[in-house]
Amino acid sequence: MTSARKTYIIANWKMNFTPGEASLYLHRLQDRIDHIPRDMQIILAPSVISLQSLSLQINRRQFKLAAQNFNQNDYGAYTGEVSVTQLRGFVDYAICGHSERRYKFHETDKEIGEKVAAAIRNGLTPILCIGETAIERRNHETASSIYSQLAGGLHYVSEEDISKVIIAYEPVWAISSNKGARPANPGDIKEASDLIRKHISKIYGKDTAEEISILYGGSVNKDTAGGYLSIPGIDGLLIGNASLIADSFCAIVETAKGKINER
Ligand code: PEP
Repeated sequence: MTSARKTYIIANWKMNFTPGEASLYLHRLQDRIDHIPRDMQIILAPSVISLQSLSLQINRRQFKLAAQNFNQNDYGAYTGEVSVTQLRGFVDYAICGHSERRYKFHETDKEIGEKVAAAIRNGLTPILCIGETAIERRNHETASSIYSQLAGGLHYVSEEDISKVIIAYEPVWAISSNKGARPANPGDIKEASDLIRKHISKIYGKDTAEEISILYGGSVNKDTAGGYLSIPGIDGLLIGNASLIADSFCAIVETAKGKINER
């Protein structure tokens, strides 16, 4: 990892926790995690219903909030939707193209590209999730899937703005909530992150490819986090299930701090 790249530890709470439960969790986290190194960023992505209250409670010098999803339009007749324009006072980051959005809600690469653009337009850092399905992997289509998701997700991102984007490599078959999920092995992750940097290099140049942050997500827990953080080219973790338990999330944060101290 180059010294310029931060370590990101992101908790995706998905559709869990009431605002009260989310507040209690944050209280516990802020109590337990006292010092966070400057080159580390902890990001919580709660359900949209908790964002406003957590934004008032959170110590923004230590933790940041992310939206799990949003509509790509800034305003208008989109019943039931929330725009980044409405969210931007509460969050600093925005997850775009999570596989559950792609496959359960049929979001297309085009829409995801528009969401990435909307996040940047509104001053938020997009966290673009990409990753192949089990079938694509079996059919040796991992590289083409990664390329097309990157091309779609970054379609509107200029050379000037690419440094604002974080990429999360999350192979769909490794996400714990999926049937038959299994954690990815370090070799697969290294290969994917190399592919991602190669593609970024082709579009935006070698220096940008070196600078962009790439995270891994998929069945990470407190016992495996350290191994994943040791993979060259991996700058952090996006954590679903294991982030729902404060003890295990705090243990992952401590592991990440240890890795930073080893540098
Ligand atoms: C996710 O859904 O982004 C994720 C990484 O989930 P889990 O850690 O539960 O596999």
